[in-house]
Amino acid sequence: MRPSTIIPLVDLKIQYHQIGLEIDSAIHRVLERSEFILGDEVEAFEEEFACFCEVKHAVGVASGTDALVLALLALGVGPGHVVLTTPLTFVSTVAAVLRVGAHVEFIDIDPVSYNIDATQLEEFFAVRTKQTTDGVIETRTGYRVSAMLPVHLYGQPADMDRICALAQRYRIAVVEDAAQAHGAHYKGRRVGTFGAAGAFSFYPSKNLGACGDGGAVVTNDPDLAARLRSLRNQGRRGNKYEHVVEGLNSRLDALQAAILRVKLRYLEGWNEARREAARRYDTLLGGLDCIRTPGISAGTDSVYHLYVIRAHERSSLQQALESRGIRTGIHYPIPVPLQPAYRHLGIAEEMYPASETAAREVLSIPMFPEIQEEQQRVVCQAITAWASDRPSMGRVWR
Ligand SMILES: *Cc1c(COP(=O)(O)O)cnc(C)c1O
Repeated sequence: MRPSTIIPLVDLKIQYHQIGLEIDSAIHRVLERSEFILGDEVEAFEEEFACFCEVKHAVGVASGTDALVLALLALGVGPGHVVLTTPLTFVSTVAAVLRVGAHVEFIDIDPVSYNIDATQLEEFFAVRTKQTTDGVIETRTGYRVSAMLPVHLYGQPADMDRICALAQRYRIAVVEDAAQAHGAHYKGRRVGTFGAAGAFSFYPSKNLGACGDGGAVVTNDPDLAARLRSLRNQGRRGNKYEHVVEGLNSRLDALQAAILRVKLRYLEGWNEARREAARRYDTLLGGLDCIRTPGISAGTDSVYHLYVIRAHERSSLQQALESRGIRTGIHYPIPVPLQPAYRHLGIAEEMYPASETAAREVLSIPMFPEIQEEQQRVVCQAITAWASDRPSMGRVWR
Protein backbone atom coordinates (compact mmCIF):
# COMPACT_ATOMS: atom_id res chain seq x y z
CA MET A 1 0.00 0.00 0.00
CA ARG A 2 1.35 3.44 -0.94
CA PRO A 3 1.27 5.95 1.90
CA SER A 4 -1.22 8.73 1.21
CA THR A 5 0.88 11.56 2.59
CA ILE A 6 4.60 12.08 2.32
CA ILE A 7 6.63 13.71 5.06
CA PRO A 8 9.72 15.07 3.33
CA LEU A 9 13.18 15.36 4.85
CA VAL A 10 13.18 19.06 3.99
CA ASP A 11 10.53 21.18 2.32
CA LEU A 12 11.81 24.28 0.55
CA LYS A 13 8.53 25.16 -1.17
CA ILE A 14 6.78 26.17 2.06
CA GLN A 15 9.38 28.85 2.60
CA TYR A 16 8.92 30.27 -0.87
CA HIS A 17 5.16 30.32 -0.45
CA GLN A 18 5.51 32.24 2.81
CA ILE A 19 7.88 34.94 1.59
CA GLY A 20 7.38 34.67 -2.17
CA LEU A 21 6.29 38.26 -2.69
CA GLU A 22 9.40 39.61 -1.02
CA ILE A 23 11.64 37.23 -2.98
CA ASP A 24 9.95 38.14 -6.25
CA SER A 25 10.37 41.84 -5.65
CA ALA A 26 14.05 41.37 -4.71
CA ILE A 27 14.61 39.50 -7.98
CA HIS A 28 12.75 42.18 -9.89
CA ARG A 29 14.89 44.90 -8.31
CA VAL A 30 18.08 43.17 -9.49
CA LEU A 31 16.74 42.66 -13.00
CA GLU A 32 15.73 46.31 -13.23
CA ARG A 33 19.14 47.43 -12.11
CA SER A 34 20.90 44.76 -14.22
CA GLU A 35 24.05 44.73 -12.11
CA PHE A 36 24.47 40.99 -11.82
CA ILE A 37 27.90 40.15 -10.43
CA LEU A 38 29.09 41.63 -7.10
CA GLY A 39 27.98 45.29 -6.85
CA ASP A 40 25.71 47.05 -4.35
CA GLU A 41 23.41 44.14 -3.67
CA VAL A 42 26.30 41.83 -2.80
CA GLU A 43 27.96 44.50 -0.67
CA ALA A 44 24.75 45.10 1.24
CA PHE A 45 24.34 41.38 1.87
CA GLU A 46 27.96 41.10 3.00
CA GLU A 47 27.41 43.86 5.55
CA GLU A 48 24.18 42.36 6.82
CA PHE A 49 25.60 38.85 7.04
CA ALA A 50 28.71 40.11 8.89
CA CYS A 51 26.39 41.91 11.29
CA PHE A 52 24.33 38.74 11.81
CA CYS A 53 27.50 36.73 12.52
CA GLU A 54 28.79 39.47 14.85
CA VAL A 55 32.00 39.69 12.84
CA LYS A 56 33.72 42.53 11.00
CA HIS A 57 33.87 41.23 7.42
CA ALA A 58 31.94 38.87 5.19
CA VAL A 59 33.03 38.11 1.65
CA GLY A 60 30.44 36.61 -0.69
CA VAL A 61 31.66 33.78 -2.90
CA ALA A 62 30.25 31.25 -5.34
CA SER A 63 29.75 28.29 -2.96
CA GLY A 64 30.58 26.86 0.44
CA THR A 65 33.28 24.74 -1.15
CA ASP A 66 34.89 27.84 -2.61
CA ALA A 67 34.57 29.60 0.75
CA LEU A 68 36.77 26.86 2.23
CA VAL A 69 39.24 26.91 -0.68
CA LEU A 70 39.51 30.71 -0.59
CA ALA A 71 39.92 30.83 3.19
CA LEU A 72 42.79 28.33 2.99
CA LEU A 73 44.40 30.14 0.03
CA ALA A 74 44.10 33.51 1.75
CA LEU A 75 45.85 32.08 4.80
CA GLY A 76 48.68 30.77 2.64
CA VAL A 77 47.88 27.10 3.21
CA GLY A 78 49.28 25.04 0.34
CA PRO A 79 51.81 22.40 -0.72
CA GLY A 80 53.98 21.10 2.11
CA HIS A 81 51.28 21.90 4.67
CA VAL A 82 48.97 19.65 6.64
CA VAL A 83 45.40 20.53 7.60
CA LEU A 84 43.66 18.58 10.38
CA THR A 85 40.01 17.78 9.94
CA THR A 86 37.24 15.27 10.59
CA PRO A 87 36.46 12.14 8.55
CA LEU A 88 32.70 12.55 9.06
CA THR A 89 31.67 15.52 6.95
CA PHE A 90 30.46 16.49 3.51
CA VAL A 91 33.15 15.79 0.95
CA SER A 92 33.85 19.51 0.33
CA THR A 93 35.70 19.94 3.60
CA VAL A 94 38.36 17.51 2.46
CA ALA A 95 38.22 18.44 -1.21
CA ALA A 96 39.06 22.05 -0.33
CA VAL A 97 42.23 21.04 1.51
CA LEU A 98 43.42 18.89 -1.36
CA ARG A 99 42.43 21.55 -3.89
CA VAL A 100 44.93 24.01 -2.40
CA GLY A 101 47.64 21.35 -2.57
CA ALA A 102 47.89 20.64 1.16
CA HIS A 103 47.84 17.26 2.86
CA VAL A 104 44.97 16.24 5.04
CA GLU A 105 45.27 14.50 8.39
CA PHE A 106 42.10 13.05 9.86
CA ILE A 107 41.24 13.10 13.55
CA ASP A 108 38.33 10.87 14.56
CA ILE A 109 35.05 12.23 15.90
CA ASP A 110 33.60 12.34 19.36
CA PRO A 111 30.77 9.79 19.12
CA VAL A 112 28.30 11.94 21.06
CA SER A 113 28.67 15.28 19.26
CA TYR A 114 29.84 13.81 15.91
CA ASN A 115 32.38 16.64 15.81
CA ILE A 116 36.16 16.37 15.74
CA ASP A 117 37.40 14.89 19.02
CA ALA A 118 39.44 17.53 20.86
CA THR A 119 41.16 14.90 23.02
CA GLN A 120 42.49 13.13 19.96
CA LEU A 121 43.53 16.48 18.48
CA GLU A 122 45.55 17.19 21.63
CA GLU A 123 47.11 13.74 21.41
CA PHE A 124 48.01 14.35 17.79
CA PHE A 125 50.01 17.43 18.69
CA ALA A 126 51.60 15.79 21.72
CA VAL A 127 52.61 12.55 20.05
CA ARG A 128 52.78 13.01 16.32
CA THR A 129 54.35 16.43 15.82
CA LYS A 130 57.62 18.12 16.64
CA GLN A 131 58.55 21.76 16.92
CA THR A 132 61.37 23.07 14.73
CA THR A 133 63.88 25.59 16.09
CA ASP A 134 61.88 28.45 14.58
CA GLY A 135 58.73 27.33 16.33
CA VAL A 136 57.00 25.66 13.37
CA ILE A 137 54.96 22.54 14.14
CA GLU A 138 55.77 19.68 11.80
CA THR A 139 54.57 16.15 11.41
CA ARG A 140 57.16 13.38 11.68
CA THR A 141 57.18 13.30 7.90
CA GLY A 142 58.24 16.94 7.73
CA TYR A 143 55.00 18.66 6.72
CA ARG A 144 54.08 21.90 8.37
CA VAL A 145 50.85 21.69 10.38
CA SER A 146 49.28 24.97 9.34
CA ALA A 147 45.55 24.76 10.00
CA MET A 148 42.76 22.97 11.82
CA LEU A 149 39.45 22.71 9.99
CA PRO A 150 36.68 21.78 12.44
CA VAL A 151 33.17 21.30 11.07
CA HIS A 152 30.09 22.29 13.08
CA LEU A 153 28.28 19.20 11.90
CA TYR A 154 24.48 19.09 11.73
CA GLY A 155 24.43 22.63 13.17
CA GLN A 156 26.13 21.77 16.44
CA PRO A 157 29.27 23.75 17.35
CA ALA A 158 32.56 21.89 17.69
CA ASP A 159 34.62 22.11 20.89
CA MET A 160 36.02 25.56 20.13
CA ASP A 161 37.62 26.26 23.54
CA ARG A 162 39.99 23.33 23.22
CA ILE A 163 40.54 23.79 19.49
CA CYS A 164 41.38 27.48 19.94
CA ALA A 165 43.67 26.69 22.87
CA LEU A 166 45.67 24.34 20.63
CA ALA A 167 45.69 26.93 17.86
CA GLN A 168 47.15 29.53 20.19
CA ARG A 169 49.63 27.24 21.80
CA TYR A 170 51.02 25.96 18.50
CA ARG A 171 50.32 29.10 16.45
CA ILE A 172 48.13 27.34 13.94
CA ALA A 173 45.23 28.81 12.01
CA VAL A 174 41.65 27.68 12.52
CA VAL A 175 39.21 27.72 9.62
CA GLU A 176 35.69 26.78 10.66
CA ASP A 177 33.44 24.90 8.29
CA ALA A 178 30.16 26.51 9.35
CA ALA A 179 28.25 25.41 6.25
CA GLN A 180 25.63 23.71 8.44
CA ALA A 181 25.61 26.13 11.34
CA HIS A 182 24.53 29.66 10.37
CA GLY A 183 23.69 31.41 13.62
CA ALA A 184 24.70 28.64 16.04
CA HIS A 185 26.31 29.80 19.28
CA TYR A 186 29.22 28.37 21.20
CA LYS A 187 29.29 29.85 24.71
CA GLY A 188 27.28 32.84 23.54
CA ARG A 189 29.34 33.58 20.44
CA ARG A 190 28.41 32.86 16.83
CA VAL A 191 30.28 30.05 15.12
CA GLY A 192 32.47 31.05 12.21
CA THR A 193 34.04 33.82 14.31
CA PHE A 194 36.42 31.83 16.50
CA GLY A 195 39.10 31.07 13.97
CA ALA A 196 40.99 33.15 11.43
CA ALA A 197 38.09 32.57 9.04
CA GLY A 198 34.69 30.87 8.92
CA ALA A 199 33.22 29.35 5.77
CA PHE A 200 29.48 29.31 5.05
CA SER A 201 27.44 27.69 2.30
CA PHE A 202 24.15 29.01 0.96
CA TYR A 203 23.24 25.82 -0.87
CA PRO A 204 19.41 25.90 -1.07
CA SER A 205 18.74 23.41 1.74
CA LYS A 206 21.15 24.98 4.24
CA ASN A 207 19.68 26.95 7.17
CA LEU A 208 20.24 30.07 5.06
CA GLY A 209 19.85 28.97 1.45
CA ALA A 210 19.99 30.80 -1.85
CA CYS A 211 18.10 29.87 -5.02
CA GLY A 212 21.27 28.37 -6.42
CA ASP A 213 24.84 28.11 -5.21
CA GLY A 214 26.48 30.66 -2.95
CA GLY A 215 28.80 30.98 0.01
CA ALA A 216 30.68 33.41 2.23
CA VAL A 217 33.85 33.68 4.26
CA VAL A 218 33.71 35.69 7.47
CA THR A 219 36.68 37.11 9.34
CA ASN A 220 37.66 39.83 11.78
CA ASP A 221 40.98 40.37 10.00
CA PRO A 222 40.82 43.28 7.49
CA ASP A 223 43.91 42.12 5.58
CA LEU A 224 42.53 38.63 5.21
CA ALA A 225 39.22 40.09 4.02
CA ALA A 226 41.04 42.17 1.40
CA ARG A 227 42.95 39.12 0.16
CA LEU A 228 39.71 37.15 -0.02
CA ARG A 229 38.03 39.91 -2.07
CA SER A 230 40.90 39.86 -4.52
CA LEU A 231 41.22 36.06 -4.67
CA ARG A 232 37.51 35.49 -5.39
CA ASN A 233 37.72 37.91 -8.31
CA GLN A 234 40.67 36.58 -10.34
CA GLY A 235 43.21 38.19 -8.05
CA ARG A 236 42.19 41.68 -9.16
CA ARG A 237 43.12 44.84 -7.37
CA GLY A 238 39.76 46.56 -6.90
CA ASN A 239 37.93 46.82 -10.22
CA LYS A 240 41.05 47.34 -12.29
CA TYR A 241 42.54 44.99 -14.83
CA GLU A 242 45.53 44.56 -12.63
CA HIS A 243 45.81 41.07 -11.24
CA VAL A 244 48.07 40.89 -8.24
CA VAL A 245 47.69 37.20 -7.40
CA GLU A 246 46.41 34.12 -9.17
CA GLY A 247 42.80 33.93 -8.08
CA LEU A 248 39.55 32.19 -8.91
CA ASN A 249 36.29 33.19 -10.49
CA SER A 250 34.22 32.76 -7.37
CA ARG A 251 31.90 35.70 -6.96
CA LEU A 252 28.49 35.84 -5.39
CA ASP A 253 25.92 37.12 -7.84
CA ALA A 254 23.45 39.90 -7.17
CA LEU A 255 20.33 37.75 -7.61
CA GLN A 256 21.49 35.35 -4.90
CA ALA A 257 22.57 38.23 -2.66
CA ALA A 258 19.17 39.93 -3.01
CA ILE A 259 17.36 36.68 -2.18
CA LEU A 260 19.69 35.99 0.75
CA ARG A 261 19.04 39.50 2.11
CA VAL A 262 15.33 38.71 2.30
CA LYS A 263 15.88 35.32 3.90
CA LEU A 264 18.48 36.55 6.39
CA ARG A 265 15.75 38.55 8.12
CA TYR A 266 13.92 35.31 8.87
CA LEU A 267 16.92 33.17 9.80
CA GLU A 268 16.81 33.70 13.56
CA GLY A 269 13.13 32.76 13.65
CA TRP A 270 13.68 29.72 11.43
CA ASN A 271 16.53 28.53 13.64
CA GLU A 272 14.31 28.92 16.69
CA ALA A 273 11.59 26.89 14.96
CA ARG A 274 14.16 24.15 14.25
CA ARG A 275 15.18 24.13 17.93
CA GLU A 276 11.58 23.87 18.99
CA ALA A 277 11.02 20.96 16.59
CA ALA A 278 14.18 19.32 17.95
CA ARG A 279 12.95 19.63 21.53
CA ARG A 280 9.72 17.98 20.49
CA TYR A 281 11.59 15.08 18.89
CA ASP A 282 13.82 14.82 21.98
CA THR A 283 10.75 14.46 24.17
CA LEU A 284 8.85 12.06 21.94
CA LEU A 285 11.84 9.82 21.21
CA GLY A 286 13.83 10.14 24.42
CA GLY A 287 12.38 7.01 26.02
CA LEU A 288 13.33 4.57 23.26
CA ASP A 289 16.43 2.54 23.94
CA CYS A 290 17.08 1.21 20.44
CA ILE A 291 17.68 4.65 18.99
CA ARG A 292 19.77 7.52 20.27
CA THR A 293 18.68 11.16 19.95
CA PRO A 294 21.32 13.89 19.38
CA GLY A 295 23.68 14.56 22.28
CA ILE A 296 24.15 18.28 22.73
CA SER A 297 27.46 19.49 24.17
CA ALA A 298 27.42 21.86 27.13
CA GLY A 299 27.55 25.53 26.23
CA THR A 300 26.45 25.00 22.64
CA ASP A 301 23.31 26.08 20.94
CA SER A 302 22.70 23.91 17.88
CA VAL A 303 20.73 25.23 14.93
CA TYR A 304 19.69 21.71 13.89
CA HIS A 305 20.52 21.86 10.23
CA LEU A 306 19.71 18.16 10.55
CA TYR A 307 18.11 16.13 13.30
CA VAL A 308 20.19 12.98 13.38
CA ILE A 309 19.29 9.87 15.35
CA ARG A 310 21.23 6.62 15.59
CA ALA A 311 20.12 3.03 15.31
CA HIS A 312 22.19 -0.14 15.20
CA GLU A 313 19.62 -1.51 12.78
CA ARG A 314 19.44 1.58 10.63
CA SER A 315 18.38 0.08 7.34
CA SER A 316 15.43 -1.68 8.95
CA LEU A 317 14.35 1.59 10.56
CA GLN A 318 14.84 3.53 7.36
CA GLN A 319 12.71 1.03 5.43
CA ALA A 320 9.99 1.09 8.08
CA LEU A 321 9.79 4.87 7.81
CA GLU A 322 9.96 4.87 4.03
CA SER A 323 7.03 2.44 3.86
CA ARG A 324 4.95 5.00 5.77
CA GLY A 325 5.95 7.83 3.46
CA ILE A 326 8.50 9.32 5.84
CA ARG A 327 11.63 10.42 4.02
CA THR A 328 15.00 10.19 5.71
CA GLY A 329 18.62 10.82 4.79
CA ILE A 330 22.06 9.57 5.75
CA HIS A 331 24.71 12.16 6.55
CA TYR A 332 27.04 10.53 5.74
CA PRO A 333 27.10 6.87 4.75
CA ILE A 334 30.85 6.77 4.05
CA PRO A 335 33.56 8.68 5.94
CA VAL A 336 35.32 10.92 3.41
CA PRO A 337 38.73 9.14 3.58
CA LEU A 338 37.01 5.88 2.61
CA GLN A 339 35.29 7.37 -0.43
CA PRO A 340 36.50 5.89 -3.73
CA ALA A 341 37.83 9.30 -4.81
CA TYR A 342 40.17 9.36 -1.80
CA ARG A 343 41.61 5.85 -1.93
CA HIS A 344 44.88 7.48 -2.93
CA LEU A 345 45.19 8.86 0.60
CA GLY A 346 45.89 5.31 1.71
CA ILE A 347 43.44 5.34 4.63
CA ALA A 348 42.40 1.85 5.67
CA GLU A 349 39.19 0.77 7.33
CA GLU A 350 39.17 0.68 11.15
CA MET A 351 41.48 3.71 11.38
CA TYR A 352 38.63 6.04 12.40
CA PRO A 353 36.28 3.69 14.23
CA ALA A 354 33.94 6.31 15.71
CA SER A 355 33.36 7.87 12.29
CA GLU A 356 32.81 4.48 10.66
CA THR A 357 30.34 3.37 13.32
CA ALA A 358 28.46 6.65 13.01
CA ALA A 359 28.42 6.30 9.21
CA ARG A 360 26.70 2.93 9.65
CA GLU A 361 24.17 4.13 12.23
CA VAL A 362 23.15 7.75 11.66
CA LEU A 363 19.77 8.60 10.21
CA SER A 364 18.46 12.11 9.53
CA ILE A 365 14.72 12.42 10.08
CA PRO A 366 12.48 15.19 8.72
CA MET A 367 13.61 18.61 9.94
CA PHE A 368 12.77 22.05 8.57
CA PRO A 369 11.51 25.21 10.29
CA GLU A 370 7.93 24.77 9.10
CA ILE A 371 7.54 21.12 10.12
CA GLN A 372 4.24 20.67 11.90
CA GLU A 373 3.75 19.08 15.28
CA GLU A 374 1.38 16.57 13.66
CA GLN A 375 4.03 15.55 11.13
CA GLN A 376 6.51 15.04 13.96
CA ARG A 377 4.00 12.89 15.83
CA VAL A 378 3.57 10.69 12.77
CA VAL A 379 7.35 10.32 12.47
CA CYS A 380 7.71 9.48 16.16
CA GLN A 381 4.81 7.03 16.13
CA ALA A 382 6.44 5.22 13.21
CA ILE A 383 9.76 5.05 15.03
CA THR A 384 8.07 3.89 18.24
CA ALA A 385 6.13 1.19 16.37
CA TRP A 386 9.36 -0.01 14.77
CA ALA A 387 11.12 0.02 18.15
CA SER A 388 8.38 -2.02 19.82
CA ASP A 389 9.30 -4.94 17.55
CA ARG A 390 12.94 -4.83 18.70
CA PRO A 391 14.05 -6.74 21.76
CA SER A 392 14.86 -4.37 24.59
CA MET A 393 18.48 -4.58 25.66
CA GLY A 394 21.24 -2.41 27.00
CA ARG A 395 22.54 -0.48 24.00
CA VAL A 396 26.05 0.78 23.73
CA TRP A 397 26.76 3.71 21.44
CA ARG A 398 30.35 4.01 20.29
C1 LIG B 1 27.21 22.05 2.16
C2 LIG B 1 28.53 21.87 2.79
C3 LIG B 1 29.72 22.34 2.20
C4 LIG B 1 29.81 22.83 0.80
O1 LIG B 1 28.98 23.79 0.42
P1 LIG B 1 28.57 24.01 -1.13
O2 LIG B 1 27.91 25.32 -1.08
O3 LIG B 1 27.69 22.89 -1.52
O4 LIG B 1 29.84 24.04 -1.92
C5 LIG B 1 30.90 22.21 2.92
N1 LIG B 1 30.93 21.63 4.13
C6 LIG B 1 29.82 21.15 4.71
C7 LIG B 1 29.94 20.54 6.07
C8 LIG B 1 28.60 21.24 4.05
O5 LIG B 1 27.51 20.72 4.65
